[in-house]
Amino acid sequence: MASLVLPQKWPSTLPSVRTRLRSRPPCVSMANAKSFVRKEDIVIVGAGIAGLATAVALQRLGIGSVVIEQGETLRTGGTSVTFFKNGWKALDVIGVGNELRRQFLEIEGIVMKSEDGRELRSFKFKDEDASQEVRAVERKILLETLANQLPPNAISFSSKVKNVEKSENDETLLKLEDDSHISAKIVIACDGVRSPVANWMGFSDPIYVGHCAFRGLGFYPDGQPFEPKVSYIYGRGIRAGYVPFSLNKVYWFLCYNSPSPGPKITDPSILRHETEKLVKVWPSELLDIIKSTPDDTIIRTPLVDRWLWPGISPPASAGKVVLVGDAWHPMTPNLGQGACCALEDAVVLAKKLAHAIKFGTLTVEESFRSYERERWPRIFPLTARANLIGAVLQQENSVVCSIRNNVLVPKFVRLGPMLEHTNFDFEPLQFDAV
Ligand SMILES: Cc1cc2nc3c(=O)[nH]c(=O)nc-3n(C[C@H](O)[C@H](O)[C@H](O)COP(=O)(O)OP(=O)(O)OC[C@H]3O[C@@H](n4cnc5c(N)ncnc54)[C@H](O)[C@@H]3O)c2cc1C
Repeated sequence: MASLVLPQKWPSTLPSVRTRLRSRPPCVSMANAKSFVRKEDIVIVGAGIAGLATAVALQRLGIGSVVIEQGETLRTGGTSVTFFKNGWKALDVIGVGNELRRQFLEIEGIVMKSEDGRELRSFKFKDEDASQEVRAVERKILLETLANQLPPNAISFSSKVKNVEKSENDETLLKLEDDSHISAKIVIACDGVRSPVANWMGFSDPIYVGHCAFRGLGFYPDGQPFEPKVSYIYGRGIRAGYVPFSLNKVYWFLCYNSPSPGPKITDPSILRHETEKLVKVWPSELLDIIKSTPDDTIIRTPLVDRWLWPGISPPASAGKVVLVGDAWHPMTPNLGQGACCALEDAVVLAKKLAHAIKFGTLTVEESFRSYERERWPRIFPLTARANLIGAVLQQENSVVCSIRNNVLVPKFVRLGPMLEHTNFDFEPLQFDAV
């Protein structure tokens, strides 16, 4: 790893950050009798996809950070996320693409069906675009793979940010739920859709879009029997899909309209019952996959988003605090782009920040503004488009659904334009490319 050059505009910071963080005495100043303030250079809040990808990308550029995560461990539950070619390019740049490819099947195409099981249309991804790559990745394995790239103890678990304040010396004071404090020179907030840091920066809560998703992972100990394709089933006000992603696991989802997000349900028997009730008259293949799903992988999520309206939304950064991933741009999953964009953010931000830290050609604040300028034109249209596609696909009107199933999907849908947003290229994460 190349040694760091001190930036002229920020003389006291970040050469051998990792070493400094390790060697620093933990207690620097007393905030009150009960708590002390730990000093850190770069703190990443949240050990989800965005947080870990950002930490690894920075590390590839020779910049250390500490990641603080509210959970006691990495998220072990959850299902899978589908990555298109932009997501895979980001994973390659971060350095974990091939390790993940070895574990997850390449998905060849998509089959669209109506709720009576009739095939409406099918496509092969590579017929439309030879460079397309689609694989679903189990979230738990993705997080573990990213975390394994970081030095031991790089992630502080059970560290929930409760409050954020500006502190002296232009630093940011993070108050944790256990009453401890961290004073950070730079905060990269990757704390997801309900980000307390985004709230502190003036962002409103994301808005519920009128539908919820059930998801789960069907498990087939003797091997799953499906072709490597996404099967998509369109109903009235409800749609579902499944995709085999490894030799013995099949990811499924089901989106349904609901006037309100409803109460949080964690009881697996209720989740299973609710899911099965919604598709009990649908082709049995989906019901069979749901029945093959262990209790602990079924989850229900009300879908939300937040549009980054120009001139209305707050900026993505405030001083030396910046938002990445869902913390900045929660979007509905209708394009399968939330996590792909979180990875893109991580790579772009790491490069901009490295410019500031290593070469001092711009300040940290300027690097964050440059990140926002580059990312906003990509994120805003994707968030809006994902929302509009969801609204169309969740239609309940029988005439509209009939036109969709009998005219639009069979005759007019083209996969190429639908996946154009997956065209996104990166420079490698190297010193000379920074
Ligand atoms: C139904 C559904 C299907 C989806 N499918 C896809 C898909 O196929 N492809 C795709 O690209 N995207 C998909 N997404 C979107 C994707 O899941 C998100 O965009 C992605 O998880 C965002 O990652 P993140 O790291 O920004 O946030 P998260 O994954 O939410 O991570 C945030 C982390 O911050 C931690 N945290 C939160 N608050 C605090 C705090 N106060 N202090 C400390 N830590 C905190 C959390 O515990 C968590 O570990 C889907 C989303 C949904 C809802």
